Amino acid sequence: MDPIPRLHFAHLPTPIEELPRLSEALGGPRILVKRDDQTGLAFGGNKTRKLEFLVAEAQEQGAQMMISAGAIQSNHCRQTAAAAARYGMECTLVLTGEMPPKPTANILLDQLFGARIVNVADRKDRDRILQETFDKATTEGKKPYLVPYGGSSSTGALGYAFAMEELMMQMQDFRSFGNFGSLERVDWIIFGTSSGGTHAGLVLGQRVFGFKGKVLGISIDEPVEWLQKNVSALATAASERLGERIAFAPADVAANADYCAPGYGVLTEAEREAVHMCASLEGLLLDPVYTGRAAAGMIDLIRKGFFKKDETVLFWHTGGQPALFAEKYASIVE
Ligand SMILES: *Cc1c(COP(=O)(O)O)cnc(C)c1O
Repeated sequence: MDPIPRLHFAHLPTPIEELPRLSEALGGPRILVKRDDQTGLAFGGNKTRKLEFLVAEAQEQGAQMMISAGAIQSNHCRQTAAAAARYGMECTLVLTGEMPPKPTANILLDQLFGARIVNVADRKDRDRILQETFDKATTEGKKPYLVPYGGSSSTGALGYAFAMEELMMQMQDFRSFGNFGSLERVDWIIFGTSSGGTHAGLVLGQRVFGFKGKVLGISIDEPVEWLQKNVSALATAASERLGERIAFAPADVAANADYCAPGYGVLTEAEREAVHMCASLEGLLLDPVYTGRAAAGMIDLIRKGFFKKDETVLFWHTGGQPALFAEKYASIVE
């Protein structure tokens, strides 16, 4: 089998740090953070790992343009625009929602990377306009490559299968050379899940590389049933890319949707508290949309005694901090 096309631009392995003051404040288990907000491409985030595989696939197909879609403050679109710039491709982004009067945060960065922005006011028109944008670019001979929402195709998910391998190698290294505590065991991996590519990759990597702990996604905006169905299907499809089909069932996917009721990108007291706790206790920045919500879920689970005191919980930071500078989320400090 041919090796899977992959570029190497992410800063890997990402560091793992302890969050002792957060753990102490919560009277909870040991908490670690895996810093995928430090993946290196344009302020980092989880889309970098996916894009190593997606851009390679686009290049293999001879694409001259990357097209993707997301919310106005999409981190995925920002990183896609940066990757396109870096590899000399054009980029068109179909962004849904109301454009702010001034470009700030991710949308400002999209423009710096030279992406063309197509704004869709109403989400129901999104898929149609995305298709029209793609067809038009095809007609113009641009050979566009369509990056799915969140980069969550079987190709993109591979990034997180190998991220799991990376974590296990770090655990192995810590066993051999570790000098800040031990990394013998990680009992839980907690992270924010939305389009499911990160989740699918981790679930696949868990199986392939034999990770013994549990992988629990905190839903940002999707019901548990949707996540279980889509993540298991994506993980199955991604396994074929690794050479051996593994049939994942919805029950193989653990997700918690107790914290997404307010809706995507809606800032509540829970996200505010999580962002403030991590900032003030650990000097660690979360983002208002994803990691803020995922950490709020983790904090609530700790308070409810969901984890055992002697367990180790690894919070997988997926990035997103540029959104802190969006006007929309300025109320984080009010
Ligand atoms: C996209 C994103 C996620 C969700 O990842 P999926 O693979 O789409 O489920 C989580 N956190 C941040 C910061 C993101 O940008």
